[in-house]
Amino acid sequence: MIEKQEIEEIMQKLLKFYEGREIEWSASLNPFQILIGTILSQRTRDVMTEKITKKLFEKFATPEDFNKASVEEIENVIRGAGFYKQKAKRIKEIAEIILKKYNGKVPESREELMKLPGVGAKTSAITMVYGFGKNDAIPVDTHVHRISNRIGMVKTKTPEETEKELMKKIPRKYWNVINHLFVIHGQSICLPMKPRCNECPTKEHCRYFRDCRKINQKQS
Ligand code: SF4
Repeated sequence: MIEKQEIEEIMQKLLKFYEGREIEWSASLNPFQILIGTILSQRTRDVMTEKITKKLFEKFATPEDFNKASVEEIENVIRGAGFYKQKAKRIKEIAEIILKKYNGKVPESREELMKLPGVGAKTSAITMVYGFGKNDAIPVDTHVHRISNRIGMVKTKTPEETEKELMKKIPRKYWNVINHLFVIHGQSICLPMKPRCNECPTKEHCRYFRDCRKINQKQS
């Protein structure tokens, strides 16, 4: 298993490699929109999420807007996202709770966020990091879970376990950048099915790459 010193090197290499690749989708969104956008992204491809989120916030931007809208109106805009009917209902419920219980402001605590319907570890962490700019959570999505296991930073079965293990190993200064870095890496090089290891800046540290190389050497 990779230890802290090597993790520092990996993070520095990735930061350098992806320098200038800004976080586009969340840059102009407020904490409420980040929260709703993350719910929309569940079981939906990144490209589709971006498209639907943009369309949705052009029509409804605030908790008040969603509260006034009917579930059917929200459904019509987010059709195309996975489980859109369920999500439309949840989004409407969340908007109502935020208005009534939190005076229209998204709660700035993971504990409170996770009391909202459909909000789990990943969504609350993304809201804290990208919505409030805090570095007290590590958002673990499919890319972070896959890549940190491939490299050998963690050996875990679920994203929840991955977050706990990463928190023990990754210096806190990287907590609010690791999700962004691994999402770009997972979309461009460390692809789910066929990772492009030869182009990867961290291949010399990666346990998956080493294992593949050993297998290839045995076969040749
Ligand atoms: S070497 Fe391959 S498997 Fe390892 S992080 Fe890079 S792309 Fe992913």
